[in-house]
Amino acid sequence: MKKSLICLSVAEKTLSEAVKTINENKKYIDCAELRADFLVPQELVKANKFPKMAGIPVIFTLRKSADGGQFVGTETDRISFIRKALPGRYSYIDLEEGIVAPGLDAEAETAGSRIIRSFHDFNGVPSDLAQRIRALPRSSREIPKAAVMPVSTSDLMRLILAVREMPQSDKIVLGMGAVGFPTRVLATILGSFLSYVSANGRLAAPGHVDPETMNTLYGFRSISESTSVCGIIGSPLAGSRSPLIHNRGFRMLGIDAVYLPFPTDNLGDFFEIARLIRMKGVSVTIPYKEEVIRFAREVDRSVREAGACNTLVCRNGEFFGYNTDIDGFLAPLLGRFSGKLPAGTRATVVGAGGAGKACVYGLAREGAKVLIVNRTEEKARELAARYGCEWSGLGEGCDRKIAAYSDVIVQTTSAGMEPNEGEDPLSFYKFKGTEVVFDIVYKPPVTAFLSRAQKAGCRVIMGKEMLRDQAYIQFKHFTGREFPQELKDDPSLV
Ligand code: NAP
Repeated sequence: MKKSLICLSVAEKTLSEAVKTINENKKYIDCAELRADFLVPQELVKANKFPKMAGIPVIFTLRKSADGGQFVGTETDRISFIRKALPGRYSYIDLEEGIVAPGLDAEAETAGSRIIRSFHDFNGVPSDLAQRIRALPRSSREIPKAAVMPVSTSDLMRLILAVREMPQSDKIVLGMGAVGFPTRVLATILGSFLSYVSANGRLAAPGHVDPETMNTLYGFRSISESTSVCGIIGSPLAGSRSPLIHNRGFRMLGIDAVYLPFPTDNLGDFFEIARLIRMKGVSVTIPYKEEVIRFAREVDRSVREAGACNTLVCRNGEFFGYNTDIDGFLAPLLGRFSGKLPAGTRATVVGAGGAGKACVYGLAREGAKVLIVNRTEEKARELAARYGCEWSGLGEGCDRKIAAYSDVIVQTTSAGMEPNEGEDPLSFYKFKGTEVVFDIVYKPPVTAFLSRAQKAGCRVIMGKEMLRDQAYIQFKHFTGREFPQELKDDPSLV
C-alpha cells in the first residue's frame, strides 16, 4: 500500500511568509501547496521563484472564487499568471477540470510539472463521483483530484464507495468539512495520493487540521492497512474529547490504531462505512445508545440491564456491545464513599435517556434505593418498573419526593449542556447541603445545576470524571491494554 503524502497548503500574503510557514512545519510535511490566490499582486508576479525558496516539492494553485479560492481577476489574467509561474519548475500544478487554455498542459509538462486535474463540490457528493474522477485526467501522467463536501453519513458512504471503485493509479480524493474529516486522516487506507493540512489557523479548506496534529495526534504517517480504525458516532460531536483521549493513549503505548469523529445521521449507512474501512471499535453517544443495540451481534449483561450501549468492538466482522458508562459513572461516585455506597443510600436520577438508564442500573446494582425523575413521565415509569424504583415527572411538585431520595442526586439530562448552559432542570429544588451531587454533563465543566449545589455546600462530582473513567474502560475494550497512568494524570486530557 502506497503511503499518502502530507501536503501543507500555504495561504500567505507573501512568498517569504510562505517559506517561513513551510520551514516551521518541515518535519511534519512531505510537500507544500502554494495557494497563490492568497498572495498580494506584487508577490504573485514573482511566484516562479518559489519552488527554489521552498526546498521541498511544491504544488502551484491559483484558485478562482467559484472553486473556493481568492482569485478575483479575469480568467485570461489567471491563465497568464499560471504561465508566468511555470518556469519556476513546480513539481505539480493544479488545473481545474473546466480550465480552457490551449497549449497550457504541454507547457506545464515541458516545465517538468505534473498536472493535478481537480474539481470541487462545496455542496455535496455528486452521485456519479467515480465516473467524474475517472473522466478527469487528460493524459496518463495527470493526477485526478476531487474535493467534495459530504454533509450526511450517506454522502460519506458514497464517497468511500466511489474511491474503492477507482483504479489504483495516483488520485487525490477527499471529503471536506466535519463529515469528510475521516477521509483526510485515512488517506493512505483510501488510496489518496496526498492529504492537505493548514498551519497558523489559516484554513485553506474546510476540515484541515495543522501538520503537527495530523502527525502527533492522528499518527498519519504510521497509518497503513493494518491500522485499527476506531471512532465515535453521534450528533452533535463537535468538541468531543474522545479523539484526544484515545489517540493520545494509542500514541503513548505505540499502538497501531487511530480514533476519528464520525458525525452521524444514519446508523445503517455508518455501519456500511464501518464494514468498508474494517473498523475495530466504536464509541456511541447521543442519540444512538439505544438504537445501536440492533446493529450488534451480541451485547453483554451491562447493555441488557441498562438498555443502552456506548461501546462496540468488532471481532471477525461482527460487532459486540458493552456499556462502559455504568462503571465510568460508579468509579468517581464510589470514590466519594471509600469504594462502597453506605447501606440504605437513597438516590435521585434526573433523566431517563441512555445515560440515565446506565446510572439507574449502576446505583441499583450497588444497592441504592432510586427515584427516577424525567420530563416525559412515561419513560420514568417504564424505567422504574424495570428496577422496582420510585418515579416522578419533572416539575415543581416533585421536590418533596427528591428530598426523600437525596443522599445522592445525579443529573443525566442534556439540559445545561452547551449550548443551553443556563438551564437547570432542578431549579425548583432547594439543596440542603448534605447531598452528593453528580452532573454527568461535562460541557461546561460546571453546569448551572452543579454550581448551585456547590454554593449550597454539597459535595459535587463533575461529568468529566465519568467521561474520563468510561473512556479508560472503553480503551481497554478496543486495545486489551490499560490506559497509560501518566496520561490519566494529565489535566489537558479532559
Ligand atoms: P438521551 O438518551 O438523548 O436522553 C436525554 C435525556 O435528557 C432524556 O431523559 C430527556 O428527557 C432529557 N432532556 C433533554 N432535554 C431536556 C430538558 N430541556 N429538560 C429536561 N429534560 C431534558 O441522552 P443521553 O445519552 O442520556 O445523554 C444525556 C446527557 O448526559 C448528555 O448531556 C451527555 O453529554 C451526558 N453524558 C455524559 C457522559 C459522561 O461520560 N460524562 C456519558 C454519557 C452521557 P425526555 O425523555 O423527556 O426527552
